[in-house]
Amino acid sequence: MMKAFDCRMCGNCCYGEGGISVDQEEMERIAHFLDLTPKAFLSRFCYENHNRIYVRTGSDNFCVFYDNEKSCQIHPVKPKICCLWPFYPAIVSDKENWELAKDACPGINPDGSFEDFVR
Ligand code: SF4
Ligand code: SF4
Repeated sequence: MMKAFDCRMCGNCCYGEGGISVDQEEMERIAHFLDLTPKAFLSRFCYENHNRIYVRTGSDNFCVFYDNEKSCQIHPVKPKICCLWPFYPAIVSDKENWELAKDACPGINPDGSFEDFVR
C-alpha cells in the first residue's frame, strides 16, 4: 500500500520567501554548525520582519541553504518548521488545508485519505 506521505525530495518546500522563521535557540544551533557567531549568522543569512527572524532566500527564490544536489545544506540542524512540514497543525487539523497542501507537496499521496495522513 502507498504511504500517505513519502517525501520526493523535490525542494518545493524550500522555495519562496517568508516561510522559514528561526528562534534564538535555532539561530545559535545553526550558527554553531556553520562555525559562525550568532551575530554573523544573523547578518549573513537572516532578515527581520515584524519582530521575527527569517532565513533569507537567494536570487532564485529558494532558501539560501537549498542546494540542488545536496538539498538542505544545514539538514542536521535545520529549523523545526522545516522538520515539521507538511505536518503543520493547520494542515493536520483541516481537510481543506490538506487539499491545498497536496498541490504544494507531491510527497502527499493524492489518492490517500486525510485520515491516513493525520495518522
Ligand atoms: S533550511 Fe533547509 S529544509 Fe529548511 S527551507 Fe532551507 S533548505 Fe529547505
Ligand atoms: S514539497 Fe513535499 S515532497 Fe517536496 S521536498 Fe518538500 S516535503 Fe518532500
